[in-house]
Amino acid sequence: MNQSIISLPILFPLLSAVFVLGLGIFVFSKNVNNILNRLFGLVSVVFVMWLFGTFMMFIANLRGNDSMVIFWDRFIYIGVVFMPPLEYHFSLAFANRKANKLVYFGYILSILFLFLSRTDYFVSGLFKYRWGAHTVAQIGHHFFMIFFFFYIFALLFTLYKYRRDLEDRQEQTKIFLVILAFAILNLVGGLGYLPAYQIGVFPVSLIAPTIFALIIGYTIIKYNFLEIKTFATQVFIFFILSVSFADVFFSNNLNEYILRSVFFAAIGFFSFLLIRSIEAELSRKEELQLMSNKLAQANDQLRKLDNAKSEFISIASHQLRTPLTAIKGFISLMLEGSYGKMAPEQVDVLNKVYSSNERLVNLVEDLLNISRIESGRMEFQFDKWKIEDICQEVIDTFVLRAKEHKLYLEYKKPDQPLPELIIDGVKVREVISNLVDNAIKYTLEGKGGVTLKVEQWGESIRVTVSDTGIGIPESELPYLFAKFSRGKDTSRLNTGGTGLGLYVGKTMIENNGGKIWAESDGAGLGSRFIIELPIVKHKEEAEERLQKFINKI
Ligand code: ADP
Repeated sequence: MNQSIISLPILFPLLSAVFVLGLGIFVFSKNVNNILNRLFGLVSVVFVMWLFGTFMMFIANLRGNDSMVIFWDRFIYIGVVFMPPLEYHFSLAFANRKANKLVYFGYILSILFLFLSRTDYFVSGLFKYRWGAHTVAQIGHHFFMIFFFFYIFALLFTLYKYRRDLEDRQEQTKIFLVILAFAILNLVGGLGYLPAYQIGVFPVSLIAPTIFALIIGYTIIKYNFLEIKTFATQVFIFFILSVSFADVFFSNNLNEYILRSVFFAAIGFFSFLLIRSIEAELSRKEELQLMSNKLAQANDQLRKLDNAKSEFISIASHQLRTPLTAIKGFISLMLEGSYGKMAPEQVDVLNKVYSSNERLVNLVEDLLNISRIESGRMEFQFDKWKIEDICQEVIDTFVLRAKEHKLYLEYKKPDQPLPELIIDGVKVREVISNLVDNAIKYTLEGKGGVTLKVEQWGESIRVTVSDTGIGIPESELPYLFAKFSRGKDTSRLNTGGTGLGLYVGKTMIENNGGKIWAESDGAGLGSRFIIELPIVKHKEEAEERLQKFINKI
């Protein structure tokens, strides 16, 4: 007798009941407000009723208590009659569809079958077979079979259709697994009806819910089914807790009993903490993900706006350049006397017009440079250049300007010739010119002057432009090289400035693999602008560096 009680067919429903109950409670508790979790919980309840009832029925059968066998078999049907519409309802919710008339019709039929199953029109008499017993199906049960399989096929079809319309491969696999789980649960599980028709098969149907629970469990872990993420940890903890709980009952004396109980309680407590911290971590991660998604969107939006702005600047400045060049040309011709001799006052006024036009030309050139930088269209021509020569040219250009401002302009050359640099010399000259131009602009007339120094500095060449001018307050130093950045006091000295020169210069120098920065001891104490260019032996190296720089922006 004892031997047969632990026989496999009896263990099947018990094992399955534990699995399904555990999974059902777990899924339900994870999100009580979600219809999908609630339906899953309910589906589990009716399956557990079936499994538990079957277990009790087998025990009653082993004890030879026929009336109890019938009692438990009728108990089973209390849950079973609700399986079809419940499962179908679940499949609709899963496919993001609302409950339809078929669902409600199914629930009504279930209630009718519930009453019918209490009568002998549903089941009556007993069929005993090798592995158990079952009541015998009557006319009501035949109709129930049609009802059952109709809804199960509707369920499978709903999931199949949902899967077919999905694009995402991973989602497809996930739904395939869900379909497989439900197919096994109902079709293999459905074999459990055979004994009602007096076919005594081995109760393989009772293991179907275990397989169902395993597949669903796997789908939860692997594909985040039902949006449960801590499943693996919780299953593991559940396992450890079960083992340590069982361990308590194998204690040999009171001391051991107490010790193991305390151990079990401690594990329980720490498991609780662990799960809570994992969940908190997960929700933080999700929040972060959400925020970074939003940020990426905002960034995208900004980039688009920025592009539109650059496009606008580019078009506007191109359109401005042509008439400005024409104005410049005609004024030059007039000043040269090509349209007849002019009175000295006229020449004076025309000179003013010329220099105003020049300012505009420079501004447009700066704007064009900016739009070239931002759209990545600024081109660089790397070649061998002698930095001393470049500096000499700059000095030659500014000698007169410095004199006009009653400032000295000193050029400190190195004693030894410097190694040649592989740079875009035209661009570097433009930057140095701009620095010298600024140094003159921002130094009060007759108050000192400007020094341009070139020297070797380790593996680099340094070009320093220092002046005795108005200097730069410490607070302004970090913003100097930003776009449209102008010092607070500078507008007094140079009303036409735009705050673009240094920004463009910085980009040009960095594209040459170099660095540029400013130093000043404070307002009124002069400034130093330093350019550092690496000594590169090969052109390819310079180009590679440029490419790296471009990739970075
Ligand atoms: P702009 O001269 O047209 O304003 P820049 O980009 O060339 O634009 O310079 C940005 C700012 O840096 C200037 O407005 C000024 O405040 C400051 N600056 C540049 N060079 C000097 C200098 N030599 N001495 C003091 N301040 C300077």
